[in-house]
Amino acid sequence: MKLDCPISQFRVAADKSVKLKKTATKIDPLYTSDQDYESKLANYREEIAHWQSVLFAGQQQSLLLIFQGMDSAGKGGAIRHVMSGINPQGCQVHSFGRPSEEELAHDYLWRCLVRLPRRGMIGIFDRSYYEEVLVVRVKPEVLAGQSLPTSLVQQKNFWKDRYNDIRHHESYLHRNGTKIVKFFLHLSADEQRKRLLARIDDPGKNWKFRLGDLDCRSHWAGFQKAYQECLEQTSTAESPWYIVPADDKRNARLVVSQVILQTMQKMDLKFPTASSGLVQDLATARKLLQDEAAAH
Ligand code: AMP
Ligand code: MG
Repeated sequence: MKLDCPISQFRVAADKSVKLKKTATKIDPLYTSDQDYESKLANYREEIAHWQSVLFAGQQQSLLLIFQGMDSAGKGGAIRHVMSGINPQGCQVHSFGRPSEEELAHDYLWRCLVRLPRRGMIGIFDRSYYEEVLVVRVKPEVLAGQSLPTSLVQQKNFWKDRYNDIRHHESYLHRNGTKIVKFFLHLSADEQRKRLLARIDDPGKNWKFRLGDLDCRSHWAGFQKAYQECLEQTSTAESPWYIVPADDKRNARLVVSQVILQTMQKMDLKFPTASSGLVQDLATARKLLQDEAAAH
């Protein structure tokens, strides 16, 4: 399938500097009407579903999709809309909120490691270990609650070391057959204000609102800075970040689906060829079934 825009424009090249202030949160729409949007998304979903069935049949590789962004950036909606067509048996979504007591009692990757996708599966992280260089960095009280030895927290390269941990972790997973793609849904502060107000004003959206969202919003500049450094430090050729303009939710979903589709197209996925034993079993089974039909 031909893609509608060169998605490489959203990809963060390894070791390149990122200027979020200069990076668009809104672009010309990739769709011309409601109907065009629906039909494009449906086409992408169908093809993603196809590749997902090949991934599942192969049982060799896995795909991990990570979604990050400020509150109301549209992570949940993107996951729901893009992945809704695929076989639920081959896909698992995990949301990472504030860590539990048990999670805090372990190293910071632990809770994510145990939820990594098995071979053949697509794993989706709605927030992830990246929060460890985002909210944990922006809000010192969160780091203080992690019970780390003081001498470690005071190390000069504390955050650099975390980026290193993450890069190594992802490169290790790559060498184990897990393809990782990371999406930063890039939202403007103006659009967030509108979306948070909608959550307050629309009874159907009240459940999404948390007072903590305003607290994060009050640290907007700090978060943008932390995201910027995180994107610069952890985008690699193998496990790239994509900065998705997120002020238009539908456009964001089209971009996300194109990235997922292109990633899967490049994973060299194939249905496994039947072993000679299986070929023999198939022939035997065919004969049994045909004989059964002939006996009727
Ligand atoms: P939501 O995704 O809107 O349900 O919100 C989840 C909240 O959990 C966000 O405010 C995150 O910043 C927060 N969160 C996620 N991971 C961590 C973490 N490792 N430490 C502290 N807070 C976190
Ligand atoms: Mg939220």
